[in-house]
Order: sequence, then C-alpha cells, then structure tokens
Amino acid sequence: ASATPPPPKATVSQYACQRRTTTENNNKTLTDAFEVLADSYELNEMEGPCLAFRRAVSVLKSLPWAVKSLETAQDLPCLGEHSKAVMKEILQYGHSFEVEKTLSDERYQTLKLFTSVFGVGPKTADKWYRRGLRSFSEVLTDSSIQLNRMQQSGFLHYGDISRAVSKAEARALRSIIDEAVHVITPDAVLALTGGFRRGKEFGHDVDFIVTTPEPGEEETLLPKIMNRLTKQGILLFSDYQTSTFEMSKLPCHRFEAMDHFAKCFLILRLEASKVEGGLHLAEGDSRGWRAVRVDLVSPPMERYAFALLGWTGSRQFERDLRRFARMERRMLLDNHALYDKTKKEFLAATTEKDIFAHLGLEYIEPWQRNA
Ligand code: ATP
Ligand code: MN
Ligand code: MN
Repeated sequence: ASATPPPPKATVSQYACQRRTTTENNNKTLTDAFEVLADSYELNEMEGPCLAFRRAVSVLKSLPWAVKSLETAQDLPCLGEHSKAVMKEILQYGHSFEVEKTLSDERYQTLKLFTSVFGVGPKTADKWYRRGLRSFSEVLTDSSIQLNRMQQSGFLHYGDISRAVSKAEARALRSIIDEAVHVITPDAVLALTGGFRRGKEFGHDVDFIVTTPEPGEEETLLPKIMNRLTKQGILLFSDYQTSTFEMSKLPCHRFEAMDHFAKCFLILRLEASKVEGGLHLAEGDSRGWRAVRVDLVSPPMERYAFALLGWTGSRQFERDLRRFARMERRMLLDNHALYDKTKKEFLAATTEKDIFAHLGLEYIEPWQRNA
C-alpha cells in the first residue's frame, strides 16, 4: 500500500525557470482545484490571489511525486495559507468546499462560458453578465449587443475552435504554412512555438514564428501569407496587427504581456485529407473539414531568440523568467530583448541557450517548460 517513495528532500525553487516541468502532472486533482480558484480570482480582477494560486499550481506540476499529505508539502515554495487550507480539505475529503461552491456559482459559470468564445475577454463577459445575459442564445438575440468581427467568428466557429487541436492537425497546419512562406521567400524560417513546441498532445491553437534573414522583409511576410491562404480558400478569419517594434523604444520598464512584433490571429479551414489519421472531431462527426485557431508572429530575425523564448511559454514559465531576471539579476527580459540594468546594456542572443546563459540559468528544454 505504501509503495510511494518518500519525496526527495531537494529544495524546489520558487521560480519555474529553475524547475523542469514536463506535461506529466502527478498532482492533477490539486492543480485542477487550484486552477478553478485562480480563474475565479482572475475573472474578478483580483490579481494577487490569482497569481498566488497560479504559482502554487506551477510548483505542484513540477513535482515528480504526488502530494499525499500536508507534511510532505511543508517545504514547498509558493504555498500560502489559503492554498494549504484548500489542499488540506482535498487530501482529507477528496474535494474542497470552496472549489465546489465556485464551480456552482452562477457568475463564475457564466463568465467562464462567455470567455470561452474567441474575442470575448473578462470585461465583455462581465458587461453581458451585468446586463442579465446567461447563455449564448440570450447574447445572440439581444438587439442592444454589437458583436465585433472577432466575436462573430468566435460564435460562428464555436464548436470547432473550442475543441482541442491534435498534434497531427498541428503538423498538417505546419505543412500548409511552410509551403506558403517558402513560396513567398525561399529562405524563410518557420518555427512551431506555444504548447506544441512544449510537447503537448493537444492545444487550443497552433502557434508559429515566421521570419526571413533579410532585414525589414519580415514586415510584409504575414500579409503575403494571409493573401495566399485567402486564395486557397482556407482563411476563415484574420486579425492582423502591424509591427510597432522599435529597438530605440526598449527596454520596456513595465511588464508587457503583448509584444510589438507583427502578428496575426487566424481561423483556418483544415481539410481532413491533409491530416494523418483524420481530423480530431466529436464522435459521429464525419465532416471533411474543421476550423482551427492559428497564431503567427513575425519578429525581425535579429530578435528571433527572444521571440521564440517568449512564444514557447508556458505563461507561468514566462512570468517567472521575467521575475527571476528582475529580482535575481537586475535584468529586464521580454519578447524583444534582455537588458542588464547594472551594465546599462542590451545582451545579444541568437539562441535560447544564449539567453539562459546570460541569466545564469541552466538551460531548460521546451518540453520542460510546462510550468
Ligand atoms: P494552448 O495549447 O492553450 O494554446 P499555449 O501555451 O500555446 O497553450 P497560447 O495562448 O497559444 O498558449 O500562448 C503561447 C505563448 O505565446 C505564451 O507563452 C504567451 O505568453 C505568448 N503569447 C500569446 N499571445 C501573445 C501576444 N498577443 N503577445 C505576446 N505573446 C503572446
Ligand atoms: Mn498555443
Ligand atoms: Mn496562441
């Protein structure tokens, strides 16, 4: 019965960038519960408690063992009073009263539902909720609500894009994008990023970086790709944001979730015939195609390593990389650059390994960044 080995006494870092986190999670019951509370705080714009639970989740995900008692979790970082109380309940009774209450809360349920639509953020969801709306049909029949283009597509393709994208589908999309960029520029560089680069089996979208060695040419790459996808009849939606990147405006002193590179958020039509083993559809769904979300970002080649590191994620891994740089090294890291505040200079990098080295961190492989 007690086959579980005792947890190793090695100390766990408070920073995700000093931990190796694969897609294997030995504490899913706990992390699922904590994520409900983190989401709930996020929807209520309570950043502090939200982040506290996200950090706790991330620590638990990194453990090669399952937490079975509070005592074994005693020495772990990032577990506050609140998360320990919830943990205690779950270890004792199998579930947490607070989590159950949140899950059955009408506001939580409705905001989760609304924000599951592409183009609907917490602010819009809250506005609809305060207007008394509780379901998609109520939103869609309310004449006072004006959906933007992104939200219209979000509702139109809801079934498909709320369904996970498989690895085989990601591979098929890679071929499509690869063909498109190489027709445009033979020396184009294409890299898979996001969750699939971290080795995830499924994702909510597929993320790519595209660039070319010719400086400035990357700026026209995305419109050209989109043009080609349109001609192929597979571009169902696109939101293109031109580059606002200027090296002279760096470093950015506040944390920016968004970067300034040219990027586009797409919905593509993926044909079953292009996917090895077929589309990832619901049981009984025999359609020959599905809609899939794809993100493309196009940094100048010179910024490639920073963009790749920033877009590979996970979000928590990125947050902790930046926090580590700031708190432990007096450096500023974002998707564009790494700046040393002591030396007052930018640190050059052509690979991710260069950036880890500048930060004095052991290299963490993409599949170990599932923090
Ligand atoms: P999923 O399987 O759910 O897609 P993911 O890790 O790929 O998981 P994404 O939301 O696709 O999640 O984000 C991938 C990475 O890209 C994250 O690290 C995130 O920080 C970064 N990212 C996403 N959107 C932007 C943006 N608009 N600007 C800058 N970085 C972004
Ligand atoms: Mn993604
Ligand atoms: Mn994405």
